[in-house]
Amino acid sequence: MSIFRVMSSSSPFGSVLSQDCTLCGVRSHASLCDACHRDLPFRQALGCPRCNAISTDHQVCGACLSDPPHFDDTISAFRYAFPLDRLVQAYKFNANLGLLSLFADALASAIRANTADVKADLVIPLPLAPKRLAERGFNQSALLGANIAKALGIRFEARGMLRVRETPPQTGLNREARLKNVRGAFDCARRLEGRHVAVVDDVMTTGATLSEAAKVLKKAGAARVSAWVVARATKDERDVAVGNDLETVPFHNIQR
Ligand SMILES: [Zn+2]
Ligand SMILES: [Zn+2]
Repeated sequence: MSIFRVMSSSSPFGSVLSQDCTLCGVRSHASLCDACHRDLPFRQALGCPRCNAISTDHQVCGACLSDPPHFDDTISAFRYAFPLDRLVQAYKFNANLGLLSLFADALASAIRANTADVKADLVIPLPLAPKRLAERGFNQSALLGANIAKALGIRFEARGMLRVRETPPQTGLNREARLKNVRGAFDCARRLEGRHVAVVDDVMTTGATLSEAAKVLKKAGAARVSAWVVARATKDERDVAVGNDLETVPFHNIQR
């Protein structure tokens, strides 16, 4: 299935053809069967409004109080827990693009549920370094961003932000080291005076990369920056998430 086929499909899950469920292997009309889809770790609690970490009563979390990120709010569709972590890795590293619609649809629903009164002016994907893009063949965040912008009727700018510096993977680094690692990695060539920009990425772990991106967008004039991510890794899930930049996951069907 070509990228264009996936992106232009009107089906919420990208294909109307019968296929095997990515997780359990039963015949399905979508990349996941209904039972596996129902069991995904959808975000239930609202969490910290700023970074979407799990917090009591939707209060701003301690980390955001002591060291606020540059983005203003975060919306995520899932927790970065099994089997969603494997699905994100399959999408990203094995180019399982049949999962794109599943992620985009879930994130668009979460955004609609969270922001009835706020609408971003512009969707910008977190950019990949040219070398990484050449290796992977696609930017997972750009495909997500394009689908979400289309679903929500918001303007999409694939090159709204550029990656101007290659950065080593964030693997195994704490938030402080990650912040240092991505400093100066992004550039925004145009002015965004007064705009509300939504930055789309697949997974937020510590939020360091998205915070650096938001810093650059605000320097370019953005009044507000929202982080829209498919999955948010909670503290316990970070150990899984940190491996996320490096590994290729050779699997077809995941056994529970
Ligand atoms: Zn299934
Ligand atoms: Zn927070």
